[in-house]
Amino acid sequence: MYYGQRKIENPIRWAMVGGGIGSQIGYIHRSAALRDFNFQLVAGAFDINPERGKAFGKELHIAEDRLYPDYKTMFAEEAKRADGIQAVSIATPNGTHYEITKAALEAGLHVVCEKPLCFTTKEAEELEALAQKQNKIVGITYGYAGHQAIEEARQLVAEGKLGKIRIVQLQFAHGFHNVAVEKNTASTKWRVNPKMAGPSYVLGDVGTHPLYLSEVICPDMKIKRLMCSRQSFVESRAPLEDNAMTIMEYDNGAIGYVWSSCVNCGSMHGQKVRIIGEKASIEWWDERPNQLTFEVQGEPVRILERGMGYLAPSALADDRIGGGHPEGLFEAWSNLYSRFAQAMVAADKGETVDFWYPNIHAGVEGVRWVENCVRSADNGATWVEYK
Ligand code: NAD
Repeated sequence: MYYGQRKIENPIRWAMVGGGIGSQIGYIHRSAALRDFNFQLVAGAFDINPERGKAFGKELHIAEDRLYPDYKTMFAEEAKRADGIQAVSIATPNGTHYEITKAALEAGLHVVCEKPLCFTTKEAEELEALAQKQNKIVGITYGYAGHQAIEEARQLVAEGKLGKIRIVQLQFAHGFHNVAVEKNTASTKWRVNPKMAGPSYVLGDVGTHPLYLSEVICPDMKIKRLMCSRQSFVESRAPLEDNAMTIMEYDNGAIGYVWSSCVNCGSMHGQKVRIIGEKASIEWWDERPNQLTFEVQGEPVRILERGMGYLAPSALADDRIGGGHPEGLFEAWSNLYSRFAQAMVAADKGETVDFWYPNIHAGVEGVRWVENCVRSADNGATWVEYK
């Protein structure tokens, strides 16, 4: 159980690029980072529109002289201060992640970057090497990974409760973009523009989320080859897809799929993970995040409730309210930000941490998966060796 005790000595001086007023994801970054006093928001370049960004920064109680028109000015000016920023979160459209992450690392900052980390595996590996050279952390916000149900699922697999894994069923399929909402919505418009979104829409935007959850739950399984078919049901989105089916073969003989979609009419969110072993299965759904279903063949279904004493100690360590009350996305993100903070402090001391979190390698693997999916899809939905 976590009561809010300090996990690091002093809050990390932190800034944001993007995440301004009207953005989809800015608030949850702030909520997650600030909740446990691991970070202190002291500067920002929140918006593509500098004036709007500054006005918003004032609303966030940030000193006016630390509200910057753009990230380059912010990194340069903050570097001159004795109390300059130590970390930055990047919550801008995908097409800017590479250049801002690179600039932040070069400025000696720790980074939290939104997914997808960048557009190509080559760029992603370059950023990974740079982070290593600079001894800096890059955390990636695969938000629900921080939910204790995911840690519990990981423990069940690690303890062999499922037996050998045979099938991995993954989906993130919502219905909010079943028509061309991008005509009137700025945050959807860039998502269907290859210059800003990258080589994919839903594969990178939503599919990478459950993919990462499966990497957390089944860390030993590696994709051997995959086949992807992608569609633009709203035709104006082509060449980017609004729906994709990916089948994956793993090196241990297992098979899996990921359904990535924004045209799944009626679905509110639809992120689901089902892992099927030779003895039992587990299933988790982000619309009911507090329940993990554990089904042993031949026995009654068990619903494992968040916050209950029968969960693994490592899952309960992140529990904030006890069983009964709901916890969800906000707490999961806070748990991730807490791990990011501890990893940043450890890196500065030349140490490493002994827990997992979505680090830059997770970011690289997300980009690699999208790249392989697109290669397969654009080659007529053929099997491709995973590289
Ligand atoms: P959005 O369009 O709603 O907001 C983007 C924000 O960035 C706006 O405030 C905009 O003014 C600002 N911005 C754009 N370019 C900028 C620049 N060069 N400098 C400073 N600010 C700039 O987008 P969004 O939906 O919030 O998505 C942002 C990122 O977060 C995307 O990469 C997206 O994939 C990711 N995202 C992740 C999750 C998640 O669950 N982890 C959820 C939603 C979005």
